[in-house]
Amino acid sequence: MSLLKSSGVRHRRPQFHPLTVAGIQRLTERAVAITFDIPEDLRDTFRFQPGQHLTLRAEINGADVRRSYSICMSRAQAAASGQLRIASNEVDGGAMSVWLNRVVEVGDRIAVLAPLGDFVCPTVDTEREIVAVAAGSGITPVISLVRTMLEDEPGSVVTLIFGNRTPKSTMFREELESLADNYSARFDLIEVFSRDTSTSRDPLLAGRIDGAKVRQILRRSGVAVSEVDEWFLCGPTGLVDDVRAAVVGDGADPDTVHHEEFFQT
Ligand SMILES: Cc1cc2nc3c(=O)[nH]c(=O)nc-3n(C[C@H](O)[C@H](O)[C@H](O)COP(=O)(O)OP(=O)(O)OC[C@H]3O[C@@H](n4cnc5c(N)ncnc54)[C@H](O)[C@@H]3O)c2cc1C
Repeated sequence: MSLLKSSGVRHRRPQFHPLTVAGIQRLTERAVAITFDIPEDLRDTFRFQPGQHLTLRAEINGADVRRSYSICMSRAQAAASGQLRIASNEVDGGAMSVWLNRVVEVGDRIAVLAPLGDFVCPTVDTEREIVAVAAGSGITPVISLVRTMLEDEPGSVVTLIFGNRTPKSTMFREELESLADNYSARFDLIEVFSRDTSTSRDPLLAGRIDGAKVRQILRRSGVAVSEVDEWFLCGPTGLVDDVRAAVVGDGADPDTVHHEEFFQT
């Protein structure tokens, strides 16, 4: 391992590991999930906490590009498969998201850094009330957190408010619906669509998610904000800030509101 020396302090350079792409699953017209095989000798290095992300590095059109992608599976799924999965939503004109969606193939090797990030919350033996709010690709760390909590905390209840343009553009829709079926007593999946024009849609579940909408949805679902043990918010900065302000204003303990932002709005 190479070491850099500066100001008398020795810094360890982050070490990228070449991982083989084992599977590519098209999630929507503009998003793919990519699964990496994790070799036995790297299993400890790639042990993760739900909510953490991988940093991918690639040379794309002559440039050295590094981007973060959240792990989108539970710990149990990772342990059973010996794999890690990320998902990328294609951003117009984006360097790495376009490359992941259109160029990468099964069998390719990509340089990947060990899991990082503090959008995490250890599982516990007690029963908790958890609320997650995600928009678009913000679902990736949230599906890892939600699934792990449902699997590892048999007494905890989870409400997920998930915003997308349309049902068709929703990443992991089938997986989330099947989780909602399997854990129907403990998992409430509430989908909000901003461009679903069907007139029969409940107005509360149409439009963009913001603090006011989250407040109304929770009230109608019978969730008392001050009694929620942990909050997970992930999406564009504007949404995260607005929802955070609303729930803290309604009595949520700020220390329980965890958030991750993928990009500015
Ligand atoms: C901790 C963390 C975890 C992340 N996890 C995921 C994940 O699980 N899945 C995922 O799809 N993305 C995730 N992202 C975003 C991801 O790292 C990239 O920023 C995204 O894929 C765009 O990279 P790019 O190289 O394609 O675009 P770039 O070439 O960097 O940007 C192209 C243009 O798109 C704009 N842009 C950049 N990012 C976004 C965005 N996310 N949405 C809209 N416009 C954008 C830029 O302002 C720029 O104009 C995460 C980001 C962070 C910080």
